[in-house]
Amino acid sequence: MAQEDVFKKVVSHCKEYGFVFPSSEIYDGLGAVYDYGQNGVELKNNIKNYWWQYMVRLHDNIVGIDSAIFMHPTIWKASGHVDAFNDPLIDNRDSKKRYRADVLIEEQIAKYEEKIEKEVAKAKKRFGDSFDEEKFRSTSERVIEEKAKRDALEKRYQEVMNAEGGIDLEGMKQIILDEGIVCPISGTRNWTDVRQFNLMFKTEMGASADGASTVYLRPETAQGIFVNYLNVQKTGRMKVPFGIAQIGKAFRNEIVARQFIFRMREFEQMEMQFFVKPGTELQWFEEWKKRRMAWHQALGFGAENYRFHDHDKLAHYANAATDVEFKMPFGFKEVEGIHSRTDFDLSQHAKFSGKKIEYFDPEDNTSYTPYVIETSIGVDRMFLSVICHSYCEEKLEGGETRVVLRLPAALAPVKLAVFPLTKKDGLPEKAQEIINSLKFHFNCKYEEKDQIGKRYRRQDAIGTPFCVTVDNQTLEDNTVTLRYRDTMEQKRVAIADLQGIIEEKVSIPYLLKNLK
Ligand code: ATP
Repeated sequence: MAQEDVFKKVVSHCKEYGFVFPSSEIYDGLGAVYDYGQNGVELKNNIKNYWWQYMVRLHDNIVGIDSAIFMHPTIWKASGHVDAFNDPLIDNRDSKKRYRADVLIEEQIAKYEEKIEKEVAKAKKRFGDSFDEEKFRSTSERVIEEKAKRDALEKRYQEVMNAEGGIDLEGMKQIILDEGIVCPISGTRNWTDVRQFNLMFKTEMGASADGASTVYLRPETAQGIFVNYLNVQKTGRMKVPFGIAQIGKAFRNEIVARQFIFRMREFEQMEMQFFVKPGTELQWFEEWKKRRMAWHQALGFGAENYRFHDHDKLAHYANAATDVEFKMPFGFKEVEGIHSRTDFDLSQHAKFSGKKIEYFDPEDNTSYTPYVIETSIGVDRMFLSVICHSYCEEKLEGGETRVVLRLPAALAPVKLAVFPLTKKDGLPEKAQEIINSLKFHFNCKYEEKDQIGKRYRRQDAIGTPFCVTVDNQTLEDNTVTLRYRDTMEQKRVAIADLQGIIEEKVSIPYLLKNLK
């Protein structure tokens, strides 16, 4: 199946099976805002739990907080968001559509890369086992030509993005014109100038218009951590190196809001700021790259679906940055950012608040402003990567197709579905009895409608790893048929053994044990 089709199917599957709904749907929706349904919220909570347990529970030196969404407006001055949290935008006059100019250019770079990879793939097919890829890449005229175009564009792009005094907007427009980039809707090159647009949502706090002050909906959760650094370090008697983690909503007035929950205007982040001694930050940066990648890969989706994308272009406060990218149906995309943020944030807050924000190191009797390594992952993007990877259409013997979400069992919304074979002879009561004893341990669901086969399909479609059928034999010997989602294997097991068989597999600690 073409990857675009997979993505379309995932989006409609999410709606049909209660994972994700467009927000305010009966009013025709609200752009790039989504609601999570009865199954979506369970999956999302499990993802958050997986992150929290790994970061906070398994690390003795990381603690969590939950800071408010509203914060003192000066915080956003200090962080640079008021002045610099801007996207360069360009409009197409014919389609009236607005685009991020940097994204248009990055897509053009990706096109050159795609052409190169296509050439290589073609040659590989042609030459078979005798193919020397390295040699081909350095000698093929087509590849050399495309690579030269790509490198020249990349160089110009870096120059305009890092121009003195901020992004060179005119330079950006010129690149778009020179590259002949067209609007995907109108197909024309009738572009406006590039303009800057601040991504923060503003609102007023206070009763009267006179006394009210402008506050922002936070565009990231990180600043809530920085401004609580002293509180947590002192009350928790934390010793550097230590981390503070938080999960919470963030808001960005994104202009190019496409690709479902990949880019939303209201979304959720799981962020951790790790405070270290100056001079040790690059070592910690490498360490956190390793730990975060291991966390991703413990889900079992295959190492080939992940890669790091190290940033050449660094924000002025960072001395290293990388993205963890995952292979979505629309290409490798950022799911998480890992940044070495130096002492920028704490120093800025010290400057703007007038408070001393330092750490006294008892080991060598010195005081310093800690440096920070940040790991920042979007819950919704993680959700999307999990669901895209798990969605599967399987041809069965007899020609039937089943749609199954092969979710890691620990993330699945429902862990066990219990079906009475029929609605009579006391079978429903027996099924309820099983649920009543297991529901304290994991999420169970009761289903009695339709034939068993249909009930299995419905559970496959939401990723339920285990189903149990209660029949007349159950009433005699307290055994049930246990059916496994992935293999569809069925086994007769004692009711008394169910908890032991299922609980271990569906628990978050089971997943965490995969971490090397
Ligand atoms: P992008 O380049 O895609 O705009 P970013 O580099 O601005 O992302 P960060 O500021 O580093 O993103 O935020 C950290 C993480 O938060 C991202 O890796 C992503 O998972 C998530 N995230 C950021 N913006 C959004 C959004 N609009 N919708 C959903 N998730 C988001």
